[in-house]
Amino acid sequence: MVWTDTVFEDYRRRAAALQASGHPFAQGVAWVGGDYVPASEARIPLLDQGFLRSDLTYDVPAIWNGRFFRLDDHLDRFEASMARLRLSSPIPRREIRDRLVEMAALGGIRDAYVMMIVTRGLRYIRQYPPEQCENFCYLMVLPYLWVMDPAVQETGGSAIVARTVRRIPPGAVDPTVKNLQWGDFTRGILEARDRGAMYPILTDGDANLTEGSGFNVVLVKDRTLHTPRRGVLEGVTRRTVLEVADALGLPWVMDDVPVSLAYECDEMMLVTTAGGVMPITTLDDRPIGDGRVGPVTRAIWQGYWDAHADPALSFPIEYR
Ligand SMILES: *Cc1c(COP(=O)(O)O)cnc(C)c1O
Repeated sequence: MVWTDTVFEDYRRRAAALQASGHPFAQGVAWVGGDYVPASEARIPLLDQGFLRSDLTYDVPAIWNGRFFRLDDHLDRFEASMARLRLSSPIPRREIRDRLVEMAALGGIRDAYVMMIVTRGLRYIRQYPPEQCENFCYLMVLPYLWVMDPAVQETGGSAIVARTVRRIPPGAVDPTVKNLQWGDFTRGILEARDRGAMYPILTDGDANLTEGSGFNVVLVKDRTLHTPRRGVLEGVTRRTVLEVADALGLPWVMDDVPVSLAYECDEMMLVTTAGGVMPITTLDDRPIGDGRVGPVTRAIWQGYWDAHADPALSFPIEYR
């Protein structure tokens, strides 16, 4: 029995059952051009500006143990992102919601990584008037994806503070709009691999932390949580983490977080919908604290997964 078994033991059973399912949608289902298809067969049109110029926004909620978690919060952020980019979904919010629920039910997927993407659409002319494009919407429901494998969460992963690349500044790409312009993150991931670590954390180029490849960063120092205020996506997971901290009576601060704090902190977590609260126990090849997953991280981790059963934050999907 390891500490993560409180949540992951049941999950592993559900994942094995899904794996054994013969349903064509059990390994993922996509909605493209009005049809449902197995995710591995889904295709996008080459001329979609979303592909050619990353002219798109997206969002990723999750389904856990048959319940959709904070879907409305993700849809709120998705709509705000679309408004910033002057995109609009060809199908209304209610239809996105209903289709995603239907797709999970069709495939019998009880733990899912869910993706919705709205792209500029087809119009291959330079200096196209964006408002003349018919925007596209793509939906996907896949078996839950782990940015950090459950087995690694037991002892914690390794990260670096990237030195060969910084986070793209907010004046170039607005980080509060969820986007797939991953040039900086990809360089960071390559650097992490070169330095024998799993995850890059990028700075703002001014000695403050921002975030990493698809996750927010939370540090713990003297039982207080610290997380960057600027230059980051405002993560729903991070919001849940801070709410759990409130419930546990742990103080938190959202402000500039100097890189130096990462080297002086007691505990570190990377947080994202695709993996939850991921403990980091090694930074730049040196142990964080005593090198083990700390008590604050464990308490937040447990509170995060418990929140998935809270009817105020999730609703059940009806599987046939
Ligand atoms: C999606 C994402 C996160 C995490 O956001 P959640 O809402 O918690 O999933 C953090 N940073 C970036 C760059 C992201 O794309």
